[in-house]
Amino acid sequence: MQVGNIRIDRVADIEKSAHPAARGFPTLTKEMLQEHAIRLGPDLIDPGSLDLFMSFHTYVVRQGDATMLVDACVGNDKERPARPDWHRRQGDFLERLAAAGVRPQDVDAVLCTHLHADHVGWNTRLVNGQWVPTFPNARYLMAEVELRHFQDKVAREGNAANNHCYPDSVLPVIERGQAELVSTSHRISSGIYTEHAPGHTPGSVLIHIEDGREHAICTGDLIHHPLQMSDPGMPTQYCEDPPASARLRSSFCRQYADTRIVVLTAHFPYPSKGWIKRDGQAFRFEFDYR
Ligand SMILES: [Zn+2]
Repeated sequence: MQVGNIRIDRVADIEKSAHPAARGFPTLTKEMLQEHAIRLGPDLIDPGSLDLFMSFHTYVVRQGDATMLVDACVGNDKERPARPDWHRRQGDFLERLAAAGVRPQDVDAVLCTHLHADHVGWNTRLVNGQWVPTFPNARYLMAEVELRHFQDKVAREGNAANNHCYPDSVLPVIERGQAELVSTSHRISSGIYTEHAPGHTPGSVLIHIEDGREHAICTGDLIHHPLQMSDPGMPTQYCEDPPASARLRSSFCRQYADTRIVVLTAHFPYPSKGWIKRDGQAFRFEFDYR
């Protein structure tokens, strides 16, 4: 898609995988899930198991000569024993990125919405038994408050924190001098900037992409699945501060419903982007298939 002169391409690491709803949304009953499944259809909820379909992808943002990635998905070869679908993966993400015209050396910046394992995986790759930055010329922009929070968590809980992604996907980037610590309200370039969105994690950010009258927002994990649009205040188990994330999700939906602003989600299945629409007292998501 184009946002003015800025080009945005979605490149999937995991195109579609099924997740038990109870893992994220413990307050949903089977009856409620069945209603959601009928309303949203089989592309979003498996009608048999009632598992939620989710995608894990990056957004390639090209502005002038600059190539940026929003988040780096799950990655290959990572030890994630608690998540079998992420564990020692052998995916073809770099081939898919190449098909979108992006070689690792072309990436100038990786913009991290937050530092969870499914957003930092391709920060690094395994080369001769060592984790090295996948994108050798990139600055990896991380909110300083997010990194400090994660480092405190690792100090308390050990390397197992956040599915063990600190030592294999964050620390190697810091050690190579490629991490750039920024505020949660950071101007990346003309038209591209972050906005603090604490709740899912304390240092989570939204990434705004604006050019002329066009405007898109990468939401990171402010929203995980389209079923949340009908009850944005519903708490999610995925979040470190569920009430804060529910409040922010609700206000985000109110603010952007029925506007032209395109919402680029991190986990909605293909095409993952669209518009928030009012639907009675709540909202729904209209996917953008352009
Ligand atoms: Zn996520």
